[in-house]
Amino acid sequence: DTIGQNLDRAVAAHPGREALVDVPSGRRWTYAEFGAAVDRLARGFMGIGVAKGDRVGIWAVNCAEWVLVQYATARIGAIMVNINPAYRAHELEFVLRQAGVSVLCASQRHKSSDYRALVEQVRANCPGLRSVHYIDDSSWDALTDAAPAVTDAQLAAREAELSCDDPVNIQYTSGTTGFPKGATLSHHNILNNGYFVGEMIGYSEQDRVCIPVPFYHCFGMVMGNLAATSHAACMVVPAPSFDPEATLRAVEDERCTSLYGVPTMFIAELNLPGFASYDLTSLRTGIMAGSPCPVEVMKRVVSEMNMSEVSICYGMTETSPVSTQTRRDDDLERRTSTVGRVLPHVEVKVIDPATGVTVPRGEAGELCTRGYSVMLGYWDEPEKTAEAVDAGRWMHTGDLATMREDGCLQIVGRIKDMIIRGGENVYPREIEEFLYSHPQIADVQVVGVPDEKYGEEILACVVPRDPADPPALEDIAAFCRERLAHYKVPRRLEIVDTFPMTVSGKVRKIELRERYTRG
Ligand code: ATP
Ligand code: MG
Repeated sequence: DTIGQNLDRAVAAHPGREALVDVPSGRRWTYAEFGAAVDRLARGFMGIGVAKGDRVGIWAVNCAEWVLVQYATARIGAIMVNINPAYRAHELEFVLRQAGVSVLCASQRHKSSDYRALVEQVRANCPGLRSVHYIDDSSWDALTDAAPAVTDAQLAAREAELSCDDPVNIQYTSGTTGFPKGATLSHHNILNNGYFVGEMIGYSEQDRVCIPVPFYHCFGMVMGNLAATSHAACMVVPAPSFDPEATLRAVEDERCTSLYGVPTMFIAELNLPGFASYDLTSLRTGIMAGSPCPVEVMKRVVSEMNMSEVSICYGMTETSPVSTQTRRDDDLERRTSTVGRVLPHVEVKVIDPATGVTVPRGEAGELCTRGYSVMLGYWDEPEKTAEAVDAGRWMHTGDLATMREDGCLQIVGRIKDMIIRGGENVYPREIEEFLYSHPQIADVQVVGVPDEKYGEEILACVVPRDPADPPALEDIAAFCRERLAHYKVPRRLEIVDTFPMTVSGKVRKIELRERYTRG
């Protein structure tokens, strides 16, 4: 199936069930209405001349239009380019030019971001950009006004030209470790991945999925939207950008059965002053992904948010994204210390990065994945593609992992984040997990910073539970010395309020490292 054909199945099977709820605007669509709205927008794009393979950019915060653009572009064989709402002018210009975007759909403004002003600022430098359509603006109406000129037969003829192996999407990676790269993905890549993620959770038309994670990222658009629509479940958009209160309110009001987030989002929700007053009894499941989940957080999500079946996923943009996932009946141990088992039709191996030889189970090495989910390539960057995907079609993830005897995978950390202190390998995650158990610490990130004597030294950046009473370096060191080898004890400490984050909710350790590198 193409994404359009797959949507048709849900519309045909469950026309009256809800497909999409946009909580901030109060708008809602059944599958029949959603399918019709997608078709109208698809004909609108064709009406303004969008051809098969043309790149249509979407630079918007979460809203119903984002979802409509996603399905409408797929329906006509255009390639949607997801643009990170946190980008500033030069990054926007880079992506518009790099991907050759000819039509751009954009938010007008959100919070302190004036998207319209930024677009107008770079427009002259992007000669390929033919038209821009702002949501809630007459330029958007121009798009829908173009729809009647295109007949159903013309739309059907376009759909008949499409193959499920066509590129449908360019998704830029989070930019956690450097400049984002544009992964080019096909219908086959992301539709199958969304479908299997939904299968593992057991989605059906009864489910209502609360999606506070950004759509621009695969977590929102594949694990959220495509997982939901491929099972005729409902997508619930709680707010334009992450807001813990709006999220919990949407779960309660919309009786959501599933809630998504990266660990820091769940931490923010659990720590809301009014947390206990929300009725979260409708929840049964959800997905936590993107970065490692502290055990304590997991326990609270299961017991205090009713998410007894919550699923942990591991993946990357380049692999559509999910490669491994915990199953519904996995116990807490598997959900807290592993990222689950390999998804159907995906292969993994753990290799010694120096030799390429597969290491025995239980030993750490670089994780490689292969299967339908591996991207077509980085857009217009064949050299980078060749570095990441080898001749045997294995994607080299850059993550260190261990395959356990029971088939569950453990992520040890990123190769780039590993600290080498005086010749000893130190995995930040191990120290972070340990420090979470310190009573004065609310959140913590551990990074390596350059050190003359040891090559790298361990720095703990700590968000104190009580800002008026932060822990002292000496206390932290003493706490660590009792239970960790001496070389793992952080020798530096910084007290912070928050961490530098990507929009997908990941901590940019690269920025922490730079900030605290002594010049
Ligand atoms: P960039 O590639 O631009 O530096 P990024 O790798 O963060 O950014 P994504 O594709 O969004 O971009 O994220 C994939 C990475 O996220 C994985 O390679 C892995 O390091 C991390 N990750 C994803 N899921 C998990 C998880 N469940 N546990 C630990 N790490 C995870
Ligand atoms: Mg990456």
